[in-house]
Amino acid sequence: MSALSYVTGDRHSAWSTYLAQVERVLPLLGDLGDWADTLRHPKRALIVDIPLEMDDGSVRHFEGYRVQHNLSRGPGKGGVRFHPNVTLEEVMALSAWMTIKCAALNLPFGGAKGGIRVDPATLSQKELERLTRRYTSEIGLVIGPQQDIPAPDVGTNAQIMAWMMDTWSMNVGATATGVVTGKPVHLGGSLGRVKATGRGVFVTGCRAAAMLGIDVTQSRVAVQGFGNVGSVTAELFHAQGAKVVAVQDHSATLYHAEGLDIPALTAWQQAHGSIAEYPDADRIADEHFWTLEYEILVPAALEGQITAARAEQLACQLILEGANGPTLPDADDVLQQRGIVVVPDVIANAGGVTVSYFEWVQDFSSFFWSEEEINQRLDGIMQGAIDTVWQKAAALDTTLRTAAYAVACERILSARKDRGLYP
Ligand code: GLU
Repeated sequence: MSALSYVTGDRHSAWSTYLAQVERVLPLLGDLGDWADTLRHPKRALIVDIPLEMDDGSVRHFEGYRVQHNLSRGPGKGGVRFHPNVTLEEVMALSAWMTIKCAALNLPFGGAKGGIRVDPATLSQKELERLTRRYTSEIGLVIGPQQDIPAPDVGTNAQIMAWMMDTWSMNVGATATGVVTGKPVHLGGSLGRVKATGRGVFVTGCRAAAMLGIDVTQSRVAVQGFGNVGSVTAELFHAQGAKVVAVQDHSATLYHAEGLDIPALTAWQQAHGSIAEYPDADRIADEHFWTLEYEILVPAALEGQITAARAEQLACQLILEGANGPTLPDADDVLQQRGIVVVPDVIANAGGVTVSYFEWVQDFSSFFWSEEEINQRLDGIMQGAIDTVWQKAAALDTTLRTAAYAVACERILSARKDRGLYP
């Protein structure tokens, strides 16, 4: 194994977490393991400087990235993150998780991810547009409908995808809707895309709950992160009759023993920008979130949230990873010992990229499906994926994460092996 000169080696970095997850699957891969080093090396990593003219006329520079981790199975696919903590190493890990996710779901894509180290909340709408357009121009050479297709992630949305699509299209001289997914529906976007990630968390979660004998309608749920993923997941569990007893975001941790009124909380968040001042709940200390009584935990915020210490304290039976990389490897060991089942990110949150795939296919054929058709296909693919991984975990006597990696790595490394090296 050769270490990369440009990684810090920080034990708790997202990239270290990914590498540790890969190490665990290697003994299960047989001869394909000979090709495993390919998983430890991102194929391509682009760092770009984005000079931005601010509204006051001054110029500030931002650092942006696009990493294509692996393209063995198809074009790169993965979101773009705008967040103040974005680093090259984080984007590398996020791109690698996309490689595993697309292969685990058998979508015909490799893995990629992009990002800009910026707090988008500090920019005006015009500044955000100029930032997005310059970033898109800078990464324009490596993206494209057949090369690498960006999408929304933390801090980005359909409007940002519209600007990306327009910028890339202007530069090539033709409208190319298939260059990004997660666009507005009237610009070649897909019905169902906005709610797809949360829906996938819910669908895989219900399947896993049934396998564990948990009655979702009687269950208590805690959700960390109340953005696009967390809020939709909470809404679907609430609609199913579950009690969402705790919700945490960057501003507060809310608790209600009888279950929060999720539609009211969502409306409050949309009106006020955060859940901090929501009146119909108790505010509790942030760390208390991890020690409350609930059956199902949905981490749907950022990486590295479930540490070994928190894993020791959890009282839940099932964890559904709405975020990418929320559980550290030593926490995975604790959860396994304690019999707490984790539906890993590469399965649980794959609903978003699955409907991105539908969007890309619809853009190519210029023929659009109904929302009912999208949701039916999505549910079928998500249920198939969790069932396959559940059976694999039973056959290998391992965790769902390692089983998902086994399914995915067999696909990725078979493709790598059969393509061979060129030149
Ligand atoms: N950002 C999402 C993810 O982490 C979606 C990526 C996509 O649709 O390409 O899976």
